[in-house]
Amino acid sequence: MTVIEPFVFPGLRSRVIFGPGSIAQTAAEIEKLGRTRALILSTPNQKAEAEALAERVGARSVGVFAGAAMHTPIEVTETALAIFQEFRADCVVALGGGSTTGLGKAIAVRTGADQVVIPTTYAGSEMTDILGETVHGEKTTRRDPAILPETVIYDVDLTMSLPASLTVTSGLNAMAHAAEALYAPDRNPVISLVAAEGIRALTQALPGVSADPGDRDARTNALYGAWLCGAALGGASMALHHKLCHTLGGSFDLPHAETHAVILPHSIGFNAAAAAELLAPVSAALGGSPGVTLFDFAARLGAPMKLKELGLKESDLDRAAEIAVRNPYFNPRPFDRAAIRALLKEAWEGARPQH
Ligand code: NAD
Repeated sequence: MTVIEPFVFPGLRSRVIFGPGSIAQTAAEIEKLGRTRALILSTPNQKAEAEALAERVGARSVGVFAGAAMHTPIEVTETALAIFQEFRADCVVALGGGSTTGLGKAIAVRTGADQVVIPTTYAGSEMTDILGETVHGEKTTRRDPAILPETVIYDVDLTMSLPASLTVTSGLNAMAHAAEALYAPDRNPVISLVAAEGIRALTQALPGVSADPGDRDARTNALYGAWLCGAALGGASMALHHKLCHTLGGSFDLPHAETHAVILPHSIGFNAAAAAELLAPVSAALGGSPGVTLFDFAARLGAPMKLKELGLKESDLDRAAEIAVRNPYFNPRPFDRAAIRALLKEAWEGARPQH
């Protein structure tokens, strides 16, 4: 019989609307929150979609700010905040990936504004109370209940245009959240189920989306998996994998989703023996030893496989290992600088992990 360890389950707290065409419910969801003046947010790339949404929302939209950028730079937040105040907005609607969601969170935590998030990637930020912000090139991360979005609208139609390469790396980014949630020290039975189902759904969906980015059913399953993986990230603490990606993104400016995709097989392979039972859902979904099977899965999807392809220099490996071990944090397998250097070297070369 399975032994149920004591746990705390903080609840799944955001309201979720999932379904094709659900963007049509945005105005009603703003109304449900008791808000009347929404500032619509996007990146410059998705400005046209944000403007179309503003039209659709009608009188409840006060305008669009289409300047969201990766890693939530403070200068962008300050510009957006000034517009939020000038327009006397009382909520934000973030339409886009993790970068746009991050801007909405940065505004919400400073103003108390409610957030409606309409995700168009699989990054999962919409389900978390985590905000990473960059001040003078340095990224810091915090958790605060005020950061968690109130309402999330998952509309598959908005993900159909996600380029094939970002579809794959963003999907692997999502799977990384769930894989680390499985062995988190503060895991609980509900989050473990959510994480396992998220991994299962993405394992099934990503090959289909990668073969045919226009496959709506596969895209729907991928978005469903991304929701669950985001919920796993929001409901448990992360360990070595996220720490390494944070270091590589924050200190070496490596791209977010691609870095997660490259590191995932190596970080999970590193922890495979120490968390063998807990990582069983990864093996069940993919077959085989967790790190090895994730490596082969990513290769089949055509994901980037080497840190050197992402622009990291071999001479950076020492410093990256040094930064990654500077502050202690939980990980199922204990490690030191030399072990992390070896893991990073394996990922830099794109060598197949042992476990
Ligand atoms: P992103 O939001 O930066 O999007 C990448 C690019 O793709 C952007 O130009 C965007 O406009 C475009 N794009 C997004 N969806 C599209 C679509 N459907 N069709 C066409 N183009 C589209 O990338 P991301 O990987 O989603 O987010 C990365 C950021 O999110 C990082 O800053 C990361 O730190 C953050 N993040 C935060 C959390 C959290 O919990 N705080 C979790 C995951 C990621």
